[in-house]
Amino acid sequence: MQTYDLYIDGARRPAEGGRTFDTENPYTGKVWAKIAHGTEADVDAAVEAADRALAGEWGTMTATARGKLMMRLADLCEKHAADLAATEVRDNGKLLAEMGGQTRYIGEWYRYFGGLADKIQGAVIPTDKKGIFNFTRREPLGVVAMITPWNSPLLLLAWKLAPALAAGNTAVVKPSEFTSASTLEFAELFKEAGFPDGVLNVVTGFGQDVGAALVAHRKVAKIAFTGSDASGARIYQRAAQDLKHVTLELGGKSPNIVFEDADLEAAVMGAISGIFAATGQTCIAGSRLLLQRSIKERFMERLIEVAKAAKMGDPMDEGTNVGPITTPPQYKKVLEYIDIAKGEGATCVLGGKPTSVEGSTGTMFVEPTIFTGVRNEMRIAQEEVFGPVLAVIDFEDEDEAVQIANDVDFGLAAGVWTSSIGRALRMSERLKVGTVWVNTYRAVSYTSPFGGYKRSGLGRESGIESVNEFLQTKSVWIAT
Ligand code: NAD
Repeated sequence: MQTYDLYIDGARRPAEGGRTFDTENPYTGKVWAKIAHGTEADVDAAVEAADRALAGEWGTMTATARGKLMMRLADLCEKHAADLAATEVRDNGKLLAEMGGQTRYIGEWYRYFGGLADKIQGAVIPTDKKGIFNFTRREPLGVVAMITPWNSPLLLLAWKLAPALAAGNTAVVKPSEFTSASTLEFAELFKEAGFPDGVLNVVTGFGQDVGAALVAHRKVAKIAFTGSDASGARIYQRAAQDLKHVTLELGGKSPNIVFEDADLEAAVMGAISGIFAATGQTCIAGSRLLLQRSIKERFMERLIEVAKAAKMGDPMDEGTNVGPITTPPQYKKVLEYIDIAKGEGATCVLGGKPTSVEGSTGTMFVEPTIFTGVRNEMRIAQEEVFGPVLAVIDFEDEDEAVQIANDVDFGLAAGVWTSSIGRALRMSERLKVGTVWVNTYRAVSYTSPFGGYKRSGLGRESGIESVNEFLQTKSVWIAT
């Protein structure tokens, strides 16, 4: 069985004391690798290495040279995309059809932000004082702790690492305990690209040990976190003690809103991919489907027909549409929410049960599930399930749609399906979310800012402005 060591200061090493933990393939239910279980001493060694790198070759390198290293890394990401995708599928059970495209795309973050590295500039500021010259410098924050979840480990790392490197920071990464392998494989590419030692370090382990030690470390200047709102709140609280910088990308309960004037077939497909892609385990899942009453019946008929045809199976098989749930706690949580919805009086019109799949020795499949008769105050409409469970709510008009859509604690994303440009513009203004998709769903890119309103997070990732999340400005005054 394969064992994955930590990656610290440009070298692989076992965890202090040699401890490991198991990582399972959710499709087979079998342990496929052992992962080094880092300790506080390992976290300290990684942060110290990252801190030394700031003062070494990396810290004195020109921004152009930094950008070139990132371009090389981008090429290597593409070259190794298929292997990295296979590792992620083995570890998190997402479909190869989805992950293959995703890992190929990851290089673009490093290319885009690599190009930005030598375009980060300060300003000469005209002052009100005579005989003095004032300018600003844009400087890195220092060592950035990056903590990622299990659903898209390398993509969500790229959203943090690419702008952080462009700005000249160094990083210590803690991937999810459920999906650590791909990040440790990615670290090899970093070395091959020619980055100085210590610029990237990976310490694997659990949130409560390695994650907590990293967040509390004196030399960590910033925490860039993606995960649940509950963990985000805990990290934010701990970071506040030391006044550390924080960006948080958290959960969602995103509405997918279909008006009667929409292209209904396109909207059905958007609703399906919105909730069932990645088995519903995405922060942007369109887990509340808001349907205008006049089209509800027609829409539901077609929606159920398409959802029923979804093929559950081996994530490695190109023909599979829905894979297993990734982790045992998540599997339990999804089934609990199905029971909660039933208990609240919602009507289960599709699925609603665990199931098994021929060929799989794992036990974590849940049928694509749709509830109608949902009221927005029900827990199934308010809380993130993070699974293939759709709550359908109907509305009368635009005002009611906006009221329901905004009446949740989260504010990550929303979909709007309409043929009216006026309505599209009105809705995009009125929805309290970080991303609005009109007549499409799930589009994300390195070019565009992504992040949450309300309980869905703080700060933005991707897009040119996200580099500011990893910079601080110094004002220099010189008497002339
Ligand atoms: P999680 O919060 O349980 O864990 C995320 C990471 O944080 C893991 O690496 C974990 O070990 C670590 N962690 C947990 N507690 C910690 C602590 N106290 N200190 C330091 N580290 C800690 O989340 P998860 O179950 O892995 O991921 C699912 C969640 O992530 C969902 O809520 C989903 O919506 C969210 N998510 C958000 C985005 C986004 O961009 N907004 C993207 C993907 C996933």
